[in-house]
Amino acid sequence: MILTSILVRGGTVVTVDHIRRVIEDGAVLLEDGLITQVGRSTDVKPQKRAEFEIDAKDMVVLPGLVDAHVHLAQALIRGCADDTSLIDWLQKFVWPLQGNFDSQDGKASAELCMLEMIKSGTTAFLESLLHSRYGLDGIAESIETCGMRGVLSKTVMSLPGYGSEKSIMHPGMVEDGETCLREVETHFGRWNGKADGRIRIWYGARSLGGCTPQLYEQIAEGANRLGTGVTMHLSEVEEDVRYTKKEFGKLPAEFMDQVGLVGPNVVFAHGVWLTESEWAILARKHANVAHCPSSNMKLSSGIAMAPEMTKAGVNVGLGCDGGPSNNCYDMIREMKTASLLQKERTMDPLTMSAATVLEMATIKGARALGLENQIGSIEVGKKADLIIVNLKKPHLTPTFNPVSSIVYAAEGSDVDTTIIDGKIIMENRTVKAMDEERIVRVASERATRLLERAGVSIA
Ligand SMILES: [Zn+2]
Repeated sequence: MILTSILVRGGTVVTVDHIRRVIEDGAVLLEDGLITQVGRSTDVKPQKRAEFEIDAKDMVVLPGLVDAHVHLAQALIRGCADDTSLIDWLQKFVWPLQGNFDSQDGKASAELCMLEMIKSGTTAFLESLLHSRYGLDGIAESIETCGMRGVLSKTVMSLPGYGSEKSIMHPGMVEDGETCLREVETHFGRWNGKADGRIRIWYGARSLGGCTPQLYEQIAEGANRLGTGVTMHLSEVEEDVRYTKKEFGKLPAEFMDQVGLVGPNVVFAHGVWLTESEWAILARKHANVAHCPSSNMKLSSGIAMAPEMTKAGVNVGLGCDGGPSNNCYDMIREMKTASLLQKERTMDPLTMSAATVLEMATIKGARALGLENQIGSIEVGKKADLIIVNLKKPHLTPTFNPVSSIVYAAEGSDVDTTIIDGKIIMENRTVKAMDEERIVRVASERATRLLERAGVSIA
């Protein structure tokens, strides 16, 4: 059902606006897909009666969460590479599995992933590496149907390497540089701005060792010409640093700067091994980093210095990464992990407050996606992307500070309602445009067949 006006009334509204207002007994009016009024319940007055009212008593209203680093195609291989070292993780499990995907697997995985994201409060995401075999068209169609807001980055690569390791990628993953560049432009023409502007197409540059310097330059040129973005894993592992030093005599971010790939339209995933001098380059060029704490912890990649990077002026968002590296796509859990990890690393409990990680999961993620003026906070004029979290639960009682409760005690399943672009996508935990039973069943069947086809067995 398409509603043109929705009034959310009676909840605590955590706006994440420029003065970070939290409004007790607040209300938000949504009209024609936009936020038109925000304030106390007594002050928000629709000119004509709203078509639909949501009673948000005992609930917190938040901006929709933005996942700045997601692999849609990895939901289908969730838990398929646990407790292994990175190279085995890639070579024995992740790449053979993904190298055996067909477009129906890609669609089934994306639907499973988006279902999970909607159910845990994520309204917008940046998918970072879609290989051709996953079927970008089918995935874009699924975004159109389910109502999410998504940036899809088509993989661009020309070498089957990873850092200094040459020719280690599964043949099913390898693509040709010129074809990749052409496909980005085709998909851009076909999908960018579609679904009422909810779909964007970016370049997904493969990690160091996967592209020649010339190809990185071509990606930068293409992105500037099309006015679109680029995302890439950078300095996730120490090997990235060794590789660029050996091959180009530079640190990874210095090398990316040299090939023209540091700018406001670029999101680097991880940034674990970036140094202070590299943060300065990213800050000066307004580039973004997606911090993925669970993934880094699970793969023992190291701990990104997210608070220091932020202090240096880099915009740092938050990402769940993928099914084999995190095992879930729940940004609420990710916020807690991000906060606790940095408190422990720095031995400073004042580091990464609940409010800080909520900013990373909302407005800073929105900035990373180039959508800061459209989403990421509950402010008049922005798109109506918001979530409503039910506090009437034992583990959320009592709640004195709603932001703390959300970050430290809540989990994705506490999200009751998800609204995207002014449409109620999930109500009382029922996702409207998705057949949950079918999506889970199909994903499960396809995952089993995929493992057989790839010859991968999970102990
Ligand atoms: Zn990743």
